[in-house]
Amino acid sequence: MARYQGGCLCGAVRYRAEATPINERICHCRLCQKVIGAAFNARVLFRIDDVVVDGPVATVNTSPDLKRGFCAACGTTMFSRRESAGIIGVTTGSLDDPTLFRPQIHIWTASKQPWVVLDDGLPQYEGAPPA
Ligand SMILES: [Zn+2]
Ligand SMILES: [Zn+2]
Repeated sequence: MARYQGGCLCGAVRYRAEATPINERICHCRLCQKVIGAAFNARVLFRIDDVVVDGPVATVNTSPDLKRGFCAACGTTMFSRRESAGIIGVTTGSLDDPTLFRPQIHIWTASKQPWVVLDDGLPQYEGAPPA
């Protein structure tokens, strides 16, 4: 059984990742805030080839190279997919077991919500992290 697996609220979309994540990050950018409908996007990043998705995923581009994927029926946001880099982020709220998440850094903290207090000791980057 895949360690990282999950799906949307209504169950129409399911996914599983058969590999170790590339990284695990919390993004505070405005685009993530909008598309998730929450203060930040805690996401686990995988290679696109390592994630199997079943079900009716609708997509919207939030930037020219970044597609967000959500359930066409219930709207749960699950994916942020960057084709050119071959990577896909998975929202931790959609995991069957969200406690698997092990955040490594905070990114785009320049647009962090003021009431979100970061005291976890993790590195923080105002914008994109260094490559
Ligand atoms: Zn759904
Ligand atoms: Zn973001």
